[in-house]
Amino acid sequence: QVPLKPGRSLMDWIRLTKSGKDLTGLKGRLMEVTEDELAKHNKKEDCWICIRGFVYNVTPYMEYHPGGEDELMKAAGTDGTDLFDQVHRWVNYESMLKECLVGRMAVKPTAAPKGEDFKKEIISIISLSCFHITSFSKTGEGLQLFSSVISAQFFCQICLASVSYDWFQTDSLIVIVIYTKQKDMIAELVIVDCEDKRLRGEIIVGDHSYLIEVDLDHAVQEDLAVNVAEKVGKVEIILKKKDNIHWKMLGQPSERHNTFIKCTDRGLFYRKCKLVSKTEVTHDTKLFCLMLPKSTHLRIPTGQHVYLKQIIAGTEVVKPYTPVLPFLPLDFKEPSCSADGHIYLMIKIYSCGLFTEALDHLQIGDYIYVSNPEGNFKTSQVQTLEDLFLLAAGTGFTPMVKLLNSALSTVSHLRTVKLIFFNKTEDDILWRNQLEQLALKDERFEVQFILSQPTEDWVGKQGKISSSLLSEFVKRSRKDSNVLICICGPTPFTEQGVQYLKDLGYSQEEIHAFTA
Ligand code: FAD
Ligand code: NAP
Repeated sequence: QVPLKPGRSLMDWIRLTKSGKDLTGLKGRLMEVTEDELAKHNKKEDCWICIRGFVYNVTPYMEYHPGGEDELMKAAGTDGTDLFDQVHRWVNYESMLKECLVGRMAVKPTAAPKGEDFKKEIISIISLSCFHITSFSKTGEGLQLFSSVISAQFFCQICLASVSYDWFQTDSLIVIVIYTKQKDMIAELVIVDCEDKRLRGEIIVGDHSYLIEVDLDHAVQEDLAVNVAEKVGKVEIILKKKDNIHWKMLGQPSERHNTFIKCTDRGLFYRKCKLVSKTEVTHDTKLFCLMLPKSTHLRIPTGQHVYLKQIIAGTEVVKPYTPVLPFLPLDFKEPSCSADGHIYLMIKIYSCGLFTEALDHLQIGDYIYVSNPEGNFKTSQVQTLEDLFLLAAGTGFTPMVKLLNSALSTVSHLRTVKLIFFNKTEDDILWRNQLEQLALKDERFEVQFILSQPTEDWVGKQGKISSSLLSEFVKRSRKDSNVLICICGPTPFTEQGVQYLKDLGYSQEEIHAFTA
């Protein structure tokens, strides 16, 4: 993130896009852009970028880009899809940049590929989104590609051989059975939504996503169930028929149905959740409780975040948030899971914050869109731990909540969990009381508050993240103990922290930084 000039906030950008100004310089005309044409527009004052087959004139957006002009310029005159996906695949650029749309990339006719090239072509086509596959197959120029697409779909079936599905019915139920053949399949890896007869079931298998997506033949009741046979990797989605009639088919498949692609190539899916409560945590931070629809099965894994989406001044705005627990449990006999259909989010409301101010204005009973979870934290990192250190700054505390709970309740050899919590003032400390209670109750847990702007009467530690502070507080309980240090906060805090830890001799594998 770079500091933006005054008058260059996201809200200012939204205003500009609504002003009716011609932002592409093409007076509303859309064109088909060749690679040669795209390459010509590679300067700041004339910069076009292609994202997923669509070309945008991003020159007017330069000064508004939170990551800075130089980052945007890295993709000038080229296909920036990969770069975009690496940095912020969740950003709703279609909505944000719709007034900058120049047109679509022209499809290059290709000769029918052979041998190894053919295999490569097929693999690259599979990795394209299904949207591309259908759009290619619809264009006249894409006729040659179309044959490859058909082969690609055939190839897809081969890839899918390891994941397959079947369905059967009783008088009252429809049961869809997915065979993933994964030994460690768990309910958190299954996300199911059913709205207006459209059933969407996504199963995460490693870094791939398998999707069932059909418009059901008949109506079903709101509540659905998911069963997972963990040892054999069998997943059952159980739907209750609304009427006890015999179904001739499961339903009409969408073009994404029965596909197995990389998770990063699968678009984010959102469902509408109801705000059921909003409670104060500190002077500027609130705990929002959102209720999932009855027809959604979604559990957010420890260490992962979701995206919230709101329409602000007619534009979709998306921001990431990390679900927490409703409170810090003091009893660790069983891991707490949020399987009760609610998502708890601890969110700091920034004055002049575009998203958080709008969020704060939501009334109980209002709806907000919540995405599927994402994130690269693996719970397996915790299972064999002896020492866990959590370095959090401000709301960077949020991923630590579930992590703390999961470690204290499930890790058998755990000796110490230490939270080092950086805040500006005492009033900013989130869940201070609960953390102190937990430290009293569980001797494995210790919390250290460090304030950067304390009042005179603060007797505790003071300062900012530094090498000396870390060497004082982050110490293995015994030589060679199995340790993990997790860090989360403002980006510079996290980056500095990681560097200090490396300088102190901790390895890459012993450090996990939570980032976007
Ligand atoms: P903006 O309109 O973007 O900014 C307005 C002003 O607010 C800025 O000028 C600045 O002064 C301040 N501000 C905004 N964003 C930040 C920031 N990130 N750091 C410091 N100051 C800022 N936030 C939570 O409260 N709870 C969470 O659980 C949470 N989880 C996150 C998970 C991930 C993976 C990431 C990347 C971020 C997370 N955030 C979380 C931050 C959140 O996504 C937003 O950045 C934040 O809510 C501000 O959004 P806004 O639109 O209101 O502010
Ligand atoms: P804050 O109140 O502004 O700061 C918390 C503490 O961090 C303060 O002591 C502050 O000291 C210090 N700090 C701030 N910037 C620093 C820097 N550049 N270097 C060293 N110390 C610094 O924090 P906040 O407003 O709650 O923000 C929390 C951040 O965490 C946000 O940026 C949010 O995006 C991020 N977050 C990320 C995730 C994730 O998973 N990636 C999850 C949740 C939150 P000062 O007195 O110097 O300001």
